[in-house]
Amino acid sequence: MSDIIQLLPDHVANQIAAGEVVQRPASVVKELLENAIDAGATNIKLLLKDAGKTLIQVIDNGKGMSVTDARMCFERHATSKIQKAEDLFNLCTKGFRGEALASIAAIAHVELKTKEKNQELGTCLKIEGSKVISQDFISTSEGTSLSVKNLFYNIPARRNFLKSDTVETRHIIDEFQRVALAHPNIAFLLHHNNNEVYHLKESNLRQRIVAVFGTKMNEKLVPINEVTDIVTIEGFVAKPEFSKRKRGEQFFFVNDRFIKSSYLNHAVVSAFDGLLENGAHPSYFLYLKVPTSSIDINIHPTKTEIKFDNEKALYAMLRATIKHSLGQYNVAPVLDFNRDANLDTPYHFKSNSKSTSAPKITVDPDFNPFKEEQQKEIHFPFKREKQTQSWESLYTSTAISDDEKQEELFNNQQEVKTQKTFQIQRKYVLSSIKSGVVLIHQSLAHQRILYEQFLESITVKEANSQQLLFPVKISFSSAEIEMIYTIKTELENAGFSFDEFTKDSVTIKGIPVSVTESKITIILEELLNDINLEVPDASFSHFDVMAKSFARTLSIKTGTLLMEKEQDALVNDLFSCKEPSISPFGKATFKTLTLHEIDNLFNS
Ligand code: ADP
Ligand code: MG
Repeated sequence: MSDIIQLLPDHVANQIAAGEVVQRPASVVKELLENAIDAGATNIKLLLKDAGKTLIQVIDNGKGMSVTDARMCFERHATSKIQKAEDLFNLCTKGFRGEALASIAAIAHVELKTKEKNQELGTCLKIEGSKVISQDFISTSEGTSLSVKNLFYNIPARRNFLKSDTVETRHIIDEFQRVALAHPNIAFLLHHNNNEVYHLKESNLRQRIVAVFGTKMNEKLVPINEVTDIVTIEGFVAKPEFSKRKRGEQFFFVNDRFIKSSYLNHAVVSAFDGLLENGAHPSYFLYLKVPTSSIDINIHPTKTEIKFDNEKALYAMLRATIKHSLGQYNVAPVLDFNRDANLDTPYHFKSNSKSTSAPKITVDPDFNPFKEEQQKEIHFPFKREKQTQSWESLYTSTAISDDEKQEELFNNQQEVKTQKTFQIQRKYVLSSIKSGVVLIHQSLAHQRILYEQFLESITVKEANSQQLLFPVKISFSSAEIEMIYTIKTELENAGFSFDEFTKDSVTIKGIPVSVTESKITIILEELLNDINLEVPDASFSHFDVMAKSFARTLSIKTGTLLMEKEQDALVNDLFSCKEPSISPFGKATFKTLTLHEIDNLFNS
């Protein structure tokens, strides 16, 4: 038989290699930013169009490349960063594989402009699908500018596989944040479709974290500092009361490289032992410096996992240091995630006349401050209110305290014959039906009700909006603002109306009727969280994520006492849903017990 094996042409080999290096625009961003840092840049600009699908450009003021290097850098396994195998054990650069630029040039239109220090002219090189189109001398500024256009233009399957602009932008911002946090001493700029998303000046660590995550972050940070022979630990953890319901702001950097480590994460979490509500995740920004010879970076193609020689010692040290700092900063364990139900505006009734009205202040027309006997009353403006009405109710007219509810419940139970529903352990509602009884999970059922209401109002675009008397300005990080901006239309369909967007705040002048003003921040924060979590999900739809997120945030929770009327409304609303039996997250909302099944309980 004749020989059939042959070497693949370079451009094919590069395209195959690209599959490993470049999953999405964010992978290109990571490689280009790292190259700029390795080139010693102190100022790096990242310009994007259409979530990087149309353009990713990185401009740096680093050392630039010679004419020959400009050509060489696109060859596979071409690198200036290592020369021999031993160098792998002593890495102080981000890159070393020499395959990023070759891979990127195989699957995009690439334009490189670069000039070395003290050179008169620079080089401009254009490559499309590994093919050099042109190479010219140009006058350009010192450093390197690399544009990557039309990523995956020659691999339609990959291009079609890309997610929505919101999702791809989120991935890019994640990479950008990691690099920016690792290098506070470098100035960064990020523009997306000509909007400035980040403008980060050279700064210290704390300033950088605050610049990336917004001014709210400043008060949350507890500094961490420890120097030992095997490791230097620096950075911050967020006070436990600011921990997140979901994993979010958790950053480990080892020798200025962002890494993921579930082992070290465990060390941090265990330092928070007893300070965190079940299921909450602490935020942290931890910078470890270890001798380069004590780690192995080469175990993962995207290099976010590394192997430590002395993992166990690191674990112990990290845990002890954080525990110590938390103690020093006297972080009190005040962690009430289940907010006081009295402070929450109660459950909104769909078909009930209980609508929220503006706070009323009663003015006494006969009041005369100069009349002696009335003078005392100035200090007791609520004295005339009936004893049964708590003063809070002046502010939330529908607020009824749990005690009062309890009292009313007790009264109602005196006439038990007429009652059709019961609440059990402030968690379930039991109702009698023809065939037996139905047991409803109050929180999950309410999620279903709210979910369908939101979905309907968002999709039919007739959401009822309430104008706020005073527009509310909420601060967010620039990345969050960027995300809110991309889903602005959907939010408007849901009943929000916006006034002004700035780099780190948004002014809201209208909200959906089912949302109370005090909840605006939390529902937006949760929504952004949820959209982030949905990132890997192919069936991504903003409408659905939004409706689910709002439903979960606003639903009545286990532990909330429900009045008989509220129980009734819950049962009625649930069974007028299109799909009453499951929550938007796929859990059963109720179970029935037939008379026959009940009989069986007694016949065994
Ligand atoms: P690696 O970073 O692993 O070496 P790359 O393919 O990313 O591989 O880059 C190849 C080479 O091109 C680098 O080793 C470096 O010498 C050069 N290079 C890439 N980007 C820049 C830049 N922004 N400034 C200067 N040199 C660069
Ligand atoms: Mg590189």
